[in-house]
Amino acid sequence: MSLVDDVRVHYQQPQGLFVAGKQVPAASGATLEIVNPATSEPLARVAAAQAQDVDLAVAAAREAFERDDWRGLAPSKREQLLWRIAELLQEHADELGVIESLNNGKTLSEGRGDAGAAADCFRYYAGSVRRLRGETMDVDAPSLVYTLREPIGVCGQIVPWNYPLLMASWKVAPALACGCCVLLKPSEWTPLTALRLADLCKQAGVPDGVVNVLPGDGPVAGEAIARHMGVDKLAFTGSVATARSLLKASAESNLKKLSLELGGKSPLVVFPDADLDAAAKAAFWGIFANKGEVCSASSRLLAHRDIKEQLVDRLAKMATTMRVGDPLDPGTEMGAIANSKQYDKIIRYLELGKQQGARVAAGGQALGGKGLFVQPTVFDDVTPDMTVASEEIFGPVLSVLGFQHEEQALEIANASMYGLVAAVFTKDVSRAHRVARGLQAGVVWINRWNGFDCAAPFGGVKYSGWGRELGEHAIDLYTQTKCVWVA
Ligand code: NAD
Repeated sequence: MSLVDDVRVHYQQPQGLFVAGKQVPAASGATLEIVNPATSEPLARVAAAQAQDVDLAVAAAREAFERDDWRGLAPSKREQLLWRIAELLQEHADELGVIESLNNGKTLSEGRGDAGAAADCFRYYAGSVRRLRGETMDVDAPSLVYTLREPIGVCGQIVPWNYPLLMASWKVAPALACGCCVLLKPSEWTPLTALRLADLCKQAGVPDGVVNVLPGDGPVAGEAIARHMGVDKLAFTGSVATARSLLKASAESNLKKLSLELGGKSPLVVFPDADLDAAAKAAFWGIFANKGEVCSASSRLLAHRDIKEQLVDRLAKMATTMRVGDPLDPGTEMGAIANSKQYDKIIRYLELGKQQGARVAAGGQALGGKGLFVQPTVFDDVTPDMTVASEEIFGPVLSVLGFQHEEQALEIANASMYGLVAAVFTKDVSRAHRVARGLQAGVVWINRWNGFDCAAPFGGVKYSGWGRELGEHAIDLYTQTKCVWVA
């Protein structure tokens, strides 16, 4: 049997929640049907957590946090455990890639790539364990004053469906490195790799109760986590609307600390002196990789009037010949949209773009058939007042806007509620750095798109969120500082 068949057969068995080191059904017996978006056929049935399951998982995580076998574990041992999780993720990369592809619709190579990146994230944070440290400071009093970095406690981690395993890893790995215990809530659409990650953590030797995974609906399981008095911190990736409800839940419960990553409408700015091939390639993969379901997608291309036509021609040719279809076919470049809700949303934006006067340079329609496939779309002659210029579509839809000079480029680029990432393409070094400073974003790329590394912080300004994930910055999210004075 092929690996794909093995995975399909495996998921004929119902999957539980992962609480206190084992899979359990939801107390209510509630389940979610998980669908393969490339075929619209059922893929798996998974337990759906309700408030009482969240109570049990919080109790398990709290008990694990109070025990001494995790936060009290020798740092070198915790480092080894995280490293072992990384090895297991790498050993199971093919299997995880298949699961992700079947569940999310991304191509097999994208799924495998995510598993490799998840392994790298655990390796990076394995290395952080023994770099956790406090400081000493000189004070006026004749005292020794130092700080301790202590784990923040029980962490709720709510992740979306676009990078299910990778977003889980960005959250779980630094939390574990810091000695925290977690309740991970994957998206109701894509819970399978998060559950598999929990199995692998257990296999690596992580004590029971440290990692708990609670698939379930956002307004039920997610809301119960967000309002729970036993949860000390919430880390979230997803929409602005959900972020607002999490903030409210925190304010109305125990003021749990929040970190938020909320997507963007990110500009890629191309000046006439730029390497146009490089800019076209960057813009293309920036918006069409992972079907455009990427928080850091290059969804707005801002092209100088002198080169806009050339750029749009190149992009339209590339989009028209892009191979869209079966995510399991190794020749496929773009798979299926992850779920029916997102598919409907993208179709609405395609219609809206056309109605509001954008010119369809490529694509513009659904592909039809049983799966959720959409043509890679390039909208040219987009103006800042159009909806497709301002709202996050989260799909394979590029909006191209023209500009005449640098100030105008910055004005258009920054006229967004979001500020996650941005890029500038130019050969003029002074302009590159000037524009990088002028762009309102948490990450700016010069003459490239999509630089990601576990060592480099990632996160946004404005409505794109609070806090920085990755790098040593993520340690700030999962620790708190205690200051000690010695007379
Ligand atoms: P969402 O915010 O509803 O879902 C993200 C996660 O939050 C899921 O796990 C969901 O179950 C959970 N959730 C939903 N409501 C909740 C609540 N009241 N309390 C606690 N948890 C809750 O996002 P979505 O509906 O899946 O997607 C909508 C839009 O959000 C997308 O079209 C896209 O624009 C944006 N989005 C952004 C990212 C990103 O990477 N920043 C990821 C996914 C979606």
